[in-house]
Amino acid sequence: MIPYEHAEETDFSKEENRQAYKEALNKVRGDFHREYPLLIDGEEIHTPQKLTSYNPADKKQVVGKVSMADKELAEKAIESAWKHFDTWRKWPAKSRAEILFKAAAIFRRRRHEFSAAMTVEAGKNYVEADGDTAEAIDFLEYYGRQMVELDKGKPVLSRLNEHNEYFYQPMGVGFIIPPWNFPFAIMCGTTVAALVTGNTVLMKPSEKAPVVSAKFVEVLREAGLPDGVLQFIPGDPKEIGDYIVDHPKIRFINFTGSRATGTRIYERAAKVQKGQKWLKRVVAEMGGKDTIIVDKDADLELAAKSIVTSAFGFSGQKCSACSRAIIHQDVYDQVLERTAELTKEVTVGDPAEYGTLVGPVIDEIQFNKIREYIDIGKQEGKLITGGETDDSKGYFVQPTIFADVDPEARIMQEEIFGPVVAFTKAKDFEELLAIANNTDYGLTGSVISRNREHLDRARRDFNVGNLYFNRGCTGSIVGLQPFGGVNMSGTNAKAGGPDYLLNFMEPKSVSEWL
Ligand code: GLU
Repeated sequence: MIPYEHAEETDFSKEENRQAYKEALNKVRGDFHREYPLLIDGEEIHTPQKLTSYNPADKKQVVGKVSMADKELAEKAIESAWKHFDTWRKWPAKSRAEILFKAAAIFRRRRHEFSAAMTVEAGKNYVEADGDTAEAIDFLEYYGRQMVELDKGKPVLSRLNEHNEYFYQPMGVGFIIPPWNFPFAIMCGTTVAALVTGNTVLMKPSEKAPVVSAKFVEVLREAGLPDGVLQFIPGDPKEIGDYIVDHPKIRFINFTGSRATGTRIYERAAKVQKGQKWLKRVVAEMGGKDTIIVDKDADLELAAKSIVTSAFGFSGQKCSACSRAIIHQDVYDQVLERTAELTKEVTVGDPAEYGTLVGPVIDEIQFNKIREYIDIGKQEGKLITGGETDDSKGYFVQPTIFADVDPEARIMQEEIFGPVVAFTKAKDFEELLAIANNTDYGLTGSVISRNREHLDRARRDFNVGNLYFNRGCTGSIVGLQPFGGVNMSGTNAKAGGPDYLLNFMEPKSVSEWL
C-alpha cells in the first residue's frame, strides 16, 4: 500500500482547471431537478415529505430534493443496522478499508463535480469547495490505512505460561450527525470512520446541505459498501433527532455542530433508557471563538493576511474561523489599518464566478443572526469596515471589522459564525494570552510572533486544541494537524488524527493460561 499523502489542492490559476470546474458546475445544474431517496436496509425509499435544498447565492434556486425519514423509518433504520452489524463486524478490516480506497478513487475522478455541488448548495468558492473535497478524499485514504494498522492491536506483555493480547473491536450501531459547513469532508470523515471500524450507522445529513451527502451515499454504494451497513436518513431534527439520540439501541453518537445542540445531545445520551445495556459514547465537536494574537515583534503583513483569510474565508462559517484579533498595543494601529485595507479588496459575490473570495452565508436564519451581531458590534466597538448586508438575491454579508472592543463584549465572547472579526489591544504578551484564553471555547488559535520564548509560552498556556504559529487558524489537514477543541469546543476527538478511530471501537484484553 502506498503511504498516505494529502490530496493536493487544484491549481485554479490554470485555465484548464477553471474550465473543468465550470463544466462540473453545468453538470451539477443539470441535476437540480433530481429527487434523492433515503436508504434503509439497502432499499431506496422515496417519501412524500422532502427536504428542499436551495442555493444560498440565489435563494429561489432549488438544488435538489431529498426524501425525509420519520420516526417509523428511523426505527426501521436502527433495526436494519443491527441486523447487518453481525456480518459487517466480521469483515476483514482490510476489505472494509478497500471500500474507502475505492470511494476515494471515484471521488478523485469526479472531484470537481462534488466541489461544484458544494458551490451551489453551500456557497463555497472554487478554492474552499476544492479543499473540502480534498479533505473528504484524505479522510478516506487516511482512515482506511489507520484501520489496517489498528487491526493489529497493540503490544502488551505476556509471561511464562500466560499469553496476553490487546485489540479493538467495533461497538455496534452509531448515529452520525454531520454539519452543513463542511458538507462533504466532515460528513464523509465521520461516516466512514464509523464504518471502517466495523460499525453500522445511521447518518442524518444537515438539512441545510443534504444533496452532497445523497451523492456521497451513491458513491459509497458504487464502491461496494454492502446493503444495510449505512442507513441514510435525512430528516427534521425535531422529529427524529432526539428520538434516535434517546433510543436504547443506539451505541454511540458522533455530532459536529452548534454548542447548543452538542450539549443537548451530551445530556440526553447520558440518560440510561429502559432496556439499554450500555453507556452511550458521545463525540461532540462544537463551536469556537478563535483568536489570532499579534505580538510586538511580528511580521505585520503576515498578521494582517492571516486575519483576513481566517476571519473571512467561507464567510467565517468555520468553527476554526478567527473572530478575535488581539494585538500588542505598539502595533495595533498598523495591523488594524492593514487588515482593513486588505478586507476592502475582498470580493463578495456568487461563488460560482471564479475569483469570488467571499460567497453568501448559508441561509436566512444565519443571515439574520449575523445581522443582529453586527448591530451589537456597532454598540460595542467601532465599525472599521463592512457592516452591510444584502439578501435581495442571496444571503450576502460584507466582511466586517470592529475595533476597540472590550474583551468581555458579546462579539468577543459569543460565536457568530459569520464574516465578523473584533479587534482589541493588550499591553504585553501576558495580557495577549490572558485575553485569548478568556472564552468558554478552545478550538483554534494563532500566534504571530518572532519571539521564541513567547511561542513556547503559548505552546504551553494557550488553551486550544489546534494552535498555529505564524499562519492563520483555519485549514487543518488530515494526518498533519489532527483537529478538535477543548472546553466548550467539544470532546476533542481529533478528526484526521492517529487516535480518531479509537472513538468507534471497544478495546479488549484476552489472556490465556497456557
Ligand atoms: N477543520 C477545519 C479547519 O481547520 C474546520 C472545521 C469546522 O469548521 O468544523 O478550518
